[in-house]
Amino acid sequence: AEGDAQSDSQTLNVLTESGFKPFSFLDKGEVVGFDIDLMDALMKEAGYKYELKNVGWESMLASVQSGEADLAIAGITMNEDRKQTYDFSSPYFESTHKIVFRSGENITSGEDIKNVKVGVQTGTTGAEAVEKILGKNHENIAKYESNTLAFMSLQSGDVDAVVTDNVVADEYVANNPDANVEMITDPETFESEFYGIMFPKGSEVKEKFDAALETLIENGTYTEIYKEWFGV
Ligand code: GLN
Repeated sequence: AEGDAQSDSQTLNVLTESGFKPFSFLDKGEVVGFDIDLMDALMKEAGYKYELKNVGWESMLASVQSGEADLAIAGITMNEDRKQTYDFSSPYFESTHKIVFRSGENITSGEDIKNVKVGVQTGTTGAEAVEKILGKNHENIAKYESNTLAFMSLQSGDVDAVVTDNVVADEYVANNPDANVEMITDPETFESEFYGIMFPKGSEVKEKFDAALETLIENGTYTEIYKEWFGV
């Protein structure tokens, strides 16, 4: 039994947050998405077993920080702030932000969200981008635990707009043809950012994942997974 415990020690605890379609979301009760497929391929390449748990955004971050989890993947942006607290893999996806808003609102630039009530997900780079425009904790910013809840509030009219990552916005608009929403991005306002796999500071497995990611990019597996989720 001792020996078994030893060999099991390479089973990694992986966390995700499933409110982030198409990167991580629930389909018939199962967590699926681009990130989930990529992570699975990385695990196979790096030779790890893993256990995937779906948790909330903030508890995901807390569990990685404490080292309770070995890594997390959920469209997590690497930024200078987070790099103080976490280690990240090499980048695996480029992203920016979009504004999804009720049709008829006069929104043609990032600055225009000053005139409406905006929903964001707490503790995300989208929330930061909005706070840069409206001011920190501005009364017109409504914060939600998940992106899914922010979109539900747009639907119900509690907010006029939602700012989130561009691909997630695209997916929402494509999947909700009756939602009566429009969207824009604004390169003047919203910067480009990169997703990385998040590890506790000092992670001993991080380098294995960087190497595995490089291999998957070189051998075409990354492109295969990309095509599966995003087309050509
Ligand atoms: N990319 C955004 C961030 O890291 C949002 C991620 C998410 O909601 N899963 O802040």
